[in-house]
Amino acid sequence: MTHPTLDFRSDTATRPTAGMRSAMAAAEVGDDVLGEDPTTNRLQERIAEILGKEAAIFAPSGTMTNLIGVRLHCGPGDEMICEAGCHILNYEQAGYAQLSGVAVRAVEGHFGVLRLHQVEGLIRPDNPHQVRTCAVCLENTHNRGGGKIQPYEDVAAICHWAHEHGLRTHLDGARLFNAAVATGIEPARWAAHFDTVSVCFSKGLGAPVGSALAGSRELIAEAVRHRKVLGGGMRQSGILAAAALYALEHNVDRLSLDHQCARQLARGIAEIEELALVSDQIDTNILFFHVPERLGTAAAFCDRLRGLGLLVLPTAPQTIRAVTHLDVDEEDADRAVEILKSACRGFTACPKD
Ligand SMILES: *Cc1c(COP(=O)(O)O)cnc(C)c1O
Repeated sequence: MTHPTLDFRSDTATRPTAGMRSAMAAAEVGDDVLGEDPTTNRLQERIAEILGKEAAIFAPSGTMTNLIGVRLHCGPGDEMICEAGCHILNYEQAGYAQLSGVAVRAVEGHFGVLRLHQVEGLIRPDNPHQVRTCAVCLENTHNRGGGKIQPYEDVAAICHWAHEHGLRTHLDGARLFNAAVATGIEPARWAAHFDTVSVCFSKGLGAPVGSALAGSRELIAEAVRHRKVLGGGMRQSGILAAAALYALEHNVDRLSLDHQCARQLARGIAEIEELALVSDQIDTNILFFHVPERLGTAAAFCDRLRGLGLLVLPTAPQTIRAVTHLDVDEEDADRAVEILKSACRGFTACPKD
């Protein structure tokens, strides 16, 4: 029997399940640009409630909800403080600069984790030579940090400091539900520290499309305008919102299984002599490991793995990322480890039978 290819590249790889598809097919819809899509409205109310905010909007991507979040807080000539490895800075084409004229002050965290003492003192003086410091953006969990959870006390301290100094705060919570499930700290408690919070439905929650931005009624009313000019006004978006509602109902608690699966994968990788985990403390569903140069570059090693039925993502010349999600289980993690072992042995055994 030939096994299907295992896709550990990203938690965006999930396909909608039969239950999710039937919820989508049954969705009641209307024109959301006119505010008349009942399912989208229901999703927006539900996610606002979960995040403890007055309002929320549904948007096609996390890139868009982050862009809107930053735009609500900063304009041309303003600066936001963020972590150097964050998604907003590294994987969103600097949309804040291209489209909003915003500058960034990047601070390197430890596996993406920022501490208060690192940002204190970074607020620029009110002086026409300088940009104006307007916001702090945090990412939780931190993607490039290896799914690292920002410690709750540090988040609270940084946001408290920001607000005391008149700065706004935005959370890139693409994987906030992973942080919530792993810590037992409710999403609303994390979100309480931020003026705006972006969450993704298309990552670990398993929906095909979509993100939401939550905040005060006033900010979200403004966000609706930004979403429209960015081309994110959708019509019968209830079809997509139904998937997100289904995901919130069925796929949040089970994120703990993804975390368990990631730890299992990490334990397997730790036992492979040639490979080295970047961190052996796996907080959630993402891990990174190094391949030595004698096994080739990460890209070449990933090509070899692909031939053996395993997809993982090269992220640096000798670094590879693996992510667990709804469509892989512990048996798949075991098989991934076997494939990694045989790739290291140089094709001496082919695990595809
Ligand atoms: C995936 C992701 C986003 C949003 O990505 P889209 O593909 O635009 O939805 C934002 N932040 C982080 C940390 C992410 O991992």
